[in-house]
Amino acid sequence: MYDVIIIGSGPAGFTAAIYTSRANLKTLVIGGERWGGQLMLTTMLENFPGFPDGIEGPELMMRMRRQAEKFGAEIIEKNFVKGDFRRTPFLAHTDEKVYEGKSVIIATGADQKWLGVPGEQERIGRGVSSCAPCDGMFFRNKNIIVVGGGDSAMEEAIMLTKYAKHVVVMHRRDSFRASFVMQEKAKSNPKISFLLGCQIIEILGDQKVERVMLRSLLRQKATEGQARIKNKELREMIDLNKGEIISEDGEEIVWEMPIDGIFVAIGRVPNSKVFEGITVDSQGYIAANNHMKTNIDGVFVAGDVYDTHYDQAITAAGFGCAAGLEVSAWLEKRA
Ligand code: NAP
Repeated sequence: MYDVIIIGSGPAGFTAAIYTSRANLKTLVIGGERWGGQLMLTTMLENFPGFPDGIEGPELMMRMRRQAEKFGAEIIEKNFVKGDFRRTPFLAHTDEKVYEGKSVIIATGADQKWLGVPGEQERIGRGVSSCAPCDGMFFRNKNIIVVGGGDSAMEEAIMLTKYAKHVVVMHRRDSFRASFVMQEKAKSNPKISFLLGCQIIEILGDQKVERVMLRSLLRQKATEGQARIKNKELREMIDLNKGEIISEDGEEIVWEMPIDGIFVAIGRVPNSKVFEGITVDSQGYIAANNHMKTNIDGVFVAGDVYDTHYDQAITAAGFGCAAGLEVSAWLEKRA
């Protein structure tokens, strides 16, 4: 019987584990076969406090893990498959075993969102990727599109210029969500150009990625964050990116352009589906009221599976700390 079972091993899960194990609570972390969360897929973090020269994502996660283990947390590299939180003690199942816990912290993070267009899924790993640090080296001297207008898109694009001949950042609106600093870094990079106000409608090629078909979003209303951009500007951008116009219907333009790789950086989906009976919001983020508590007494939440807004390693760690403290207080009241 564990005092607390923590599901997930990103910054939220490990920080929670550091707090609970240091408070002498018997702590199990069900970390997943690919433990460590999203930071295992990133390179340098320059904004995590305490590392003035930056720290590599995987190195930071190794350190968090070591710190949790030092205080006695048990970490298993197995996937959580289901929980039974309608009874106490709570049950957490992996493929091999069932674990009992007096309390639970859900810290399963969020996964990559894909475009959902024809030709995408079957080319993941064959030219379609979501991870520049993992796959960038396969695109030496190639032409790449990065889709998205947030910090991830800028970061991926900048990183990919280490390998690629050229990187096009393609975004559905005409202004970016990315921070000013990241935008400026991308804009000042001579290997990066921008294609705005359009979306990919199909990925084409003989098994791998060779071409992409795009559509302008000019005719659409400026709703859902999709602003209009001028037809003339779009044509210039198409020319610049060696596009070939396939059809024009009023203001809408459909065109193809040759490309070797597509990196999708359009945000994430929270990993909450596996939790039956836990209340989530319309996008699947776990709802918490009053200090990381879910709708089930004794089940807490932390990190990207809950956080709809900040999505940072340091905020995830902060939420993990809060959940760890709340669990300690909750257990103490019941002792
Ligand atoms: P994000 O900020 O949510 O941006 C997602 C981008 O993808 C948006 O520009 C969005 O367009 C676009 N998008 C969403 N769905 C789309 C679809 N179906 N088709 C086409 N485009 C779509 O996500 P993120 O860039 O992954 O960043 C997440 C958080 O992590 C942010 O808080 C960010 O600051 C942080 N982060 C920070 C760093 C850093 O500081 N080094 C690096 C990476 C991430 P719209 O703008 O039109 O909605």
